[in-house]
Amino acid sequence: MINLVYIGSDIGDITVNAFNAITESDIVLNYDNIDLSILDEYLKDKEIISNVVEDSEDGDIYSKLEESYSKIEYCVYKSREDKTVTIVSSNNPNIYTVANVLIQISSKHNDIELRVYPGVSPVDYSASLLGAPLNDYAAIDLNSIIVSQEELEGKIKSALENDFVLFIHNLKGIYGEDENHNFNLLKKIVNDFNNELLVGIVNGESHEICRFKDINDEKINEKTTLIIGNRLTHILDDFMVTSSDYIVKPKFIEQNMDFFKRYLKGETPRGLDMDCDYLPCHKELEACDFCYCPFYPCADGVTGGEWIKEKNVWSCQFCDWIHLEEPCLAVREGLDEILEETEDLKTKHIELLKLRRQSLLKTLK
Ligand code: SF4
Repeated sequence: MINLVYIGSDIGDITVNAFNAITESDIVLNYDNIDLSILDEYLKDKEIISNVVEDSEDGDIYSKLEESYSKIEYCVYKSREDKTVTIVSSNNPNIYTVANVLIQISSKHNDIELRVYPGVSPVDYSASLLGAPLNDYAAIDLNSIIVSQEELEGKIKSALENDFVLFIHNLKGIYGEDENHNFNLLKKIVNDFNNELLVGIVNGESHEICRFKDINDEKINEKTTLIIGNRLTHILDDFMVTSSDYIVKPKFIEQNMDFFKRYLKGETPRGLDMDCDYLPCHKELEACDFCYCPFYPCADGVTGGEWIKEKNVWSCQFCDWIHLEEPCLAVREGLDEILEETEDLKTKHIELLKLRRQSLLKTLK
C-alpha cells in the first residue's frame, strides 16, 4: 500500500485520516523535508527517508529530478513488498503536483494500491489568514518547469480579465537564471491591468494586505504566497473579503416604496435633481436616478456600504457608486426587466442582487 499525504503549510492542520496513514506506515518518505518533529513519538519505529537532493556541480536539472524521483520509485518498490509506505508532501500549491508524479511512476506497474490524502493547501491556509478573499479563483505556479513565459502570461491575463481571484505560488524562480524573472512578469501584467487591486501577502504566519502597486521585492521570498483580489475584493474590519452571497431580507420604508411607485411611472429624476433640498447628499454625485437604492440592503461593502456597529442597520452613507452616471445606466437597463411592481423589490431581491453584481462588473474600474 502506498499513501500520499499532503500536510499543507502548517503541520498543525493535518487531518485525522492523514495522521492515521502516517502512523500506520512502515516507511515514511519526507518528500519536501519538512519538520516532522511534532510526530516524533509516532515515527520512532519507522524507516524515515528524507529527500535532501544535493545541487549537482553543473546545475544539471535532470540529475536533481532523477534523484528525487528515485525516492518515489523506492517507495513504489517497497509497497510491492507488502510494506505500507507513506509519502509526506507539503511544498506545492496542492497535493496534485506530487500525486501526478506518483501516479505516473505507479502506472509503470500493475499492482500498486495507492491512496491520496488531501490536506489544507497553501491556497486555503493563506486565504484563511487573510479573511475571505476567495471566490472563484485560479491558482498559478510561477515556477512550473515546462510552462513557457507565453503560457504563463496568457493564464495570468485571462484570470485577471475574467475576474478570478488569483493565488500565486513559487514567486522566486529555482530553475531559471534570474530568480525574479517570473515575479517581475507578474508585476508588469498586474500593473498594466489594474494596480489598485488588493493583494494579500502571506509569509508563514505573518501577512499584510496592500494595493498591488505597493508591493515590492523586499516583501517577497521563496515561501511567500500572494492572493490578488478581483474588483469585488475589499477590506472589512482588517480582513480581505471578496463579495459573495450574504443575503439579507429586504426591509423597505414607506418613502422607498413611494419612490419606486413614481419610478415605475417614469416620474423620478434622471441625472442630477437640481431642485432637491438635500443636494449634495453624496461626495461623488452625478445622478439622482436611484435616490433610494433598489438593492437595499446589499450587505456588500465593496461600494462603501457598511453595518452600523451594534445596531444591525445597513448604512449606505458612503456608497457613491449608485449615484454615478454609468452605474445608473447599467442598473436602469436591467431593472426594467425585473421590476414590474413595487412588491418585486421584496420578492425579487435575489434577482436584484444579481443585477447589482452584473452592473458592478460592468462599471467598477
Ligand atoms: S451600499 Fe450602495 S448598492 Fe448597497 S444598498 Fe446601499 S446604496 Fe445600494
